[in-house]
Amino acid sequence: MRINRSIRVGIAALAVAFVATACGGDEQKSASQSAAEGNLTVGIKFDQPGLGLRNPDGTFSGFDVEVAQYVADKLGVAPENITWKEAPSAQRETLIENGEVDYVVATYSITDARKEKVDFAGPYFVAGQSLLVRSDNTDITGPESLSGGKRLCSVTGSTPAQNITDNYAGDVQLQPYDTYSACVEALRNGSVDAVTTDDIILAGYAAQYPGELEVVGEPFTEERYGIGLAKGDDESRGKINDAIQSMIDDGSWATAFDETVGASGYPLPSPPTVDRY
Ligand code: GLU
Repeated sequence: MRINRSIRVGIAALAVAFVATACGGDEQKSASQSAAEGNLTVGIKFDQPGLGLRNPDGTFSGFDVEVAQYVADKLGVAPENITWKEAPSAQRETLIENGEVDYVVATYSITDARKEKVDFAGPYFVAGQSLLVRSDNTDITGPESLSGGKRLCSVTGSTPAQNITDNYAGDVQLQPYDTYSACVEALRNGSVDAVTTDDIILAGYAAQYPGELEVVGEPFTEERYGIGLAKGDDESRGKINDAIQSMIDDGSWATAFDETVGASGYPLPSPPTVDRY
């Protein structure tokens, strides 16, 4: 009986180990698996008008929200079964890597550095870095005019902030904040001289304060917006790429753009070509 008992103890230990692994939280569900279970958690911005905005009544609006909902619908999930989670620029990779979101639609540029940690479907939009200034400003007209100690606000963990550090550092004073809405407040109260990020984001803020803030100069980078998801989740990435393509093809992409970003006066561009890397 001694042998039998040790076998039983061994089996019990194995069972405990198995349950611990299964419930350990290390197991990440793919976006398609979550969708198959009927729910999705999606990372968006909460403070970017026209793109990802939490309204005072608790609803969410913007082009990224529309794209996220279209994709969810194609994955079989109704809008009421989406949980929206704020995804500030610096936290997007971590939210995906930790499995706290199924995907991120948050003005999220596809870059090689980010691709080391996450995968991207898309692009679903192409924007470009630009500058937002107070309308009474006369001397800031583009990135070259930021020298002379101009105070420039951008957001930690964003590609525009990185671009300034890498290429325009000189005597520009880069002031990193956590969100663009905080940068815009700093611009309005005179703590900074300009805000830099993608033109489409800046257009939304300029439209909030007509006659007070404006976008200046030509876009000086190319920002290809992707939908970020867990690295290696090729099945979901393929499905999300199909959804983006169908949103473009059936006209929903242009309609969603007009109804969201369109209000800022940002012109409707031609849709991008979805990558199939
Ligand atoms: N598209 C840029 C980025 O992904 C800037 C916008 C943002 O920070 O969300 O970093």
